[in-house]
Amino acid sequence: MEIFQGLIGNEDIKNTLGKAIAGREFLHAYIIEGAHGTGKHTVARLAACGINCQGHGCSSHSPCDMCRKILNDNCTDVRFFDAFKVDDIRKIKETLYESPTECDYKIYVLNNVEKMNVKAQNALLISLEEPPKNVVFFLLCTDATILLETIRSRAQILRTKPLTKEQIIAHLEKSGIPLPQGDKLEEIILSSRGSYGYVLDMLNESKADALLKDRERARELTAKLLLNDASTVTLLFSMYNQTRDRLKELFSLCLVALRDLAVVKRAKDAPLCFFTSHKEAGDLASRHSVQKILNIYAMVEGAIDALNLNANVPSTLASLLIQKKKGN
Ligand SMILES: [Zn+2]
Repeated sequence: MEIFQGLIGNEDIKNTLGKAIAGREFLHAYIIEGAHGTGKHTVARLAACGINCQGHGCSSHSPCDMCRKILNDNCTDVRFFDAFKVDDIRKIKETLYESPTECDYKIYVLNNVEKMNVKAQNALLISLEEPPKNVVFFLLCTDATILLETIRSRAQILRTKPLTKEQIIAHLEKSGIPLPQGDKLEEIILSSRGSYGYVLDMLNESKADALLKDRERARELTAKLLLNDASTVTLLFSMYNQTRDRLKELFSLCLVALRDLAVVKRAKDAPLCFFTSHKEAGDLASRHSVQKILNIYAMVEGAIDALNLNANVPSTLASLLIQKKKGN
């Protein structure tokens, strides 16, 4: 279907949903499952266009008036909801049986449905069980298995996938966006974990610089954590005034770097998620055993868990130092 040209990658969804909409055989509820930034909103918005298009299947490049309205978030019948509570479900129910004002179908897009508690999910279920004919639900989530089976069984589950590096580069080139040279683009794409939206966001100069600095710090920290010398202690001490969230971000990057090191120990040319150069990862990995890398991984993971449980920054760093002194 032409309108899905606006979606990058995700060919399975384009086919499934495109065919269903073109044949006017779409269902009244879809669950769109996928990691953050993999295009769940775009799928729902483009499907809303396809369902309500008044231009006989226009494309996202030259939309009809109705598709343009939907793409610009100006259509009263296509509504997005977030952060679910029973009260929000009540609002949906209140409007559910009202006729659409400008479209053929009212579209309800519910974001973060995995955050709904059981009570809210049960309240939503009643709307899904007996929906009016002209309503389509799109339930967006990162993991559909968290939802009640009764909800999952009433919707078709579609999965958005992270984009490959090649897909992201191809699309950036097609869009004519000026690209940074050298490692910078590679570093941004690696940190995006397949999210095109993230890449676009990071192409902003100041954000890119902050990101590169963070990655440089994570590189340094990873290398120091693997060592057992005074410079490790100095570095950890220098981080005492970081906020808990900053430290969590930094440690999360270290986990990805450590994962790369463990992987290159087993296969030299395995795809990497943090390092842009196999040589750099290989050189660092060659200085440490797999067991050592896995021990440090477990230690950093433990530190993130502690921070998630509200441990303060100094005590988390102190505990890391004690564990390292014990021989990790
Ligand atoms: Zn249209």
